[in-house]
Amino acid sequence: MNRTTLLALSYLLGCCCLPLQAQLPQPDGGTIRAGTLPRSWDTGGPKCMQMPEWQIHEYNPDMYILRQSGCTDFEKPFIFLLFGNDRVLLLDTGSRRGNLAPTLKLVMHRWLARNHRDRMPLIVAHTHSHSDHVAGDAEIRALDDPSVPITYVAPTVEATKQFYGIVNWPEDVGTVDLGNRVLDVLPIPGHDIVSVAVYDPQTAILFTGDSVYPGRLYIRDFEAFERSNQRMVRFTEGKPVAHVLGNHIEQKRTPYTDYPVGTIYQPDEHELALARGALLEIQAALAAMHGKPRRAAYRDFSLWPVGQSSPESEASRREFEEYQKQQVERMWDQSTQ
Ligand SMILES: [Zn+2]
Ligand SMILES: [Zn+2]
Repeated sequence: MNRTTLLALSYLLGCCCLPLQAQLPQPDGGTIRAGTLPRSWDTGGPKCMQMPEWQIHEYNPDMYILRQSGCTDFEKPFIFLLFGNDRVLLLDTGSRRGNLAPTLKLVMHRWLARNHRDRMPLIVAHTHSHSDHVAGDAEIRALDDPSVPITYVAPTVEATKQFYGIVNWPEDVGTVDLGNRVLDVLPIPGHDIVSVAVYDPQTAILFTGDSVYPGRLYIRDFEAFERSNQRMVRFTEGKPVAHVLGNHIEQKRTPYTDYPVGTIYQPDEHELALARGALLEIQAALAAMHGKPRRAAYRDFSLWPVGQSSPESEASRREFEEYQKQQVERMWDQSTQ
């Protein structure tokens, strides 16, 4: 073996033995704070007797993802907790029957103990105003814990504009400073009048609420939704995006398929995270509709424009109620198939 071969071999071996940590080419990309997502989430069973009301997931020591159990409500939304040096932001309070307060208190007090702190102000804000995201507001506002004083941001356009310093809704981007962690807040109406996306430069995560997630994207105002999507595409251009995290999973791992509305237990659900490419795919899909909203399935999500109540929506509502009733009846012992 000559010297060149030896050098080449040791170089190769060295490379293989070192942990591979690629750096992003952007000057600020290498500073992204990493975290982990679970391989799968608890959903709602198969035995509801065994299910905690909330699953707590530590993405990293300053970011937590909590998921409500499907056994308490089929919506099983995710909520997010982001800690800065001075304040912590809670995005959403969950759906009905969530009973979030004890779990939130547990996470807050564990964080305080871990960080040798005795007080951390909590901002309670929302991705949007739908009931499955604000149902826990009253119980959280009533926490009355001196170590966790609360600032509440009502899920209205006015309160949202004021809190994040957004003058022109929905064009401007607002901010909130948690202490060495400044988040960008983009108004993205369309799913709801008060929908916002939150970009966290520390983790490079874009939180998108119900506007982008692996499931049925219900579009109430088609034009506004399309413009909001375009603004998210422009905003993220050239920025690192580690994950696009929405607030539900309804999609299966099998491409183009989702669980029926009202499903409690989803053993084969899609992962939560999408990539920035999803924004581009949505942009192309909306453009292809040429202003004529229609339902369409894609690999990781589907687009569901919802308009005025119609006989069709009345029929699907009855179908959903019947399915929901059956699900609840067998939730204590669901099939694992
Ligand atoms: Zn919603
Ligand atoms: Zn929702």
